[in-house]
Amino acid sequence: MLKKIILSLCLGLSNIAIAKSVALSFDDGLDPLINLEAQQINNDILNTLKQNNIHAIVYPNISRIGGTEGLNIISKWGKQGHRIGNHGNLHLNLNKNEVNLPNYLQDIQQGHQAFSSLKGFVPRYRFPFLKEGNTIEKREGVRKWLINHNYQSGAVSIDASDWYYNQLFLKYQQENDQNSLDKLKQAYIFHLLDRAKYYDDLALQTLGRSPKHVLLLHVRAINAAWLEDIISSFNKQGWKFIDSDTAYQDPIYKIQPQLLPAGESIVWNIAQIYGVKNLRYPAEDAPYEYSNLKKNGLNITP
Ligand SMILES: [Zn+2]
Repeated sequence: MLKKIILSLCLGLSNIAIAKSVALSFDDGLDPLINLEAQQINNDILNTLKQNNIHAIVYPNISRIGGTEGLNIISKWGKQGHRIGNHGNLHLNLNKNEVNLPNYLQDIQQGHQAFSSLKGFVPRYRFPFLKEGNTIEKREGVRKWLINHNYQSGAVSIDASDWYYNQLFLKYQQENDQNSLDKLKQAYIFHLLDRAKYYDDLALQTLGRSPKHVLLLHVRAINAAWLEDIISSFNKQGWKFIDSDTAYQDPIYKIQPQLLPAGESIVWNIAQIYGVKNLRYPAEDAPYEYSNLKKNGLNITP
């Protein structure tokens, strides 16, 4: 009997050990004055999360959500138990030479002023484009600001190109091309699962364990339409959804890599530190997706 209990405990433990976990994060948000479907897209994503009992984190950016109405839409996330972080004001790319440190810090501060009073706000900063600086001065300057302002990492472990698939989604939707939309859905879900496996494998190869992952998505029409399919596909592949607070407890999010240019996925950074060969830069980009799209019957000419 005792043996049986111990065995089942061990099995239980080994199950826990192999269960891969991921938190969902959604960047940017939408401006209802520019995108007439902003409210609907936001509601659809929130409803799917609710139905699946998943708590996520949203990282809004002022230039993407516009004014008060965009902020009202974002505030729904906090009211429904999700976290709200800070993704800045002008969506600046810190790796660009023309973006200097004082302006960048001011931009983070503006994001803080806009979002910190919202219910569910947590002081986490998500770098636009995941770019964390092309000089030591900028990289360390922002890190110092974040520490001094009790901010924590809004890093991701699984980067992906949902923004690019969304562009195609909108194009096919506008053309009423259901056949291409069906193919795109297959390609998109394959892409997300493939990226999740890729970054998890990199972690296994370097850290020797599967970390608590954070997946980067955006508040976009494609995710409003297909989030349910994404969730069920991840579940089928053995992924378990966790909330962002739980995910960010993983020590990988405390690492401050001494790399330049700084940024990308934290797991990708760890792989760089471990000297993993053939890491492409940037880690994710639209042209990398042409072959997956082609495999799914969509010929994209750049
Ligand atoms: Zn963004």
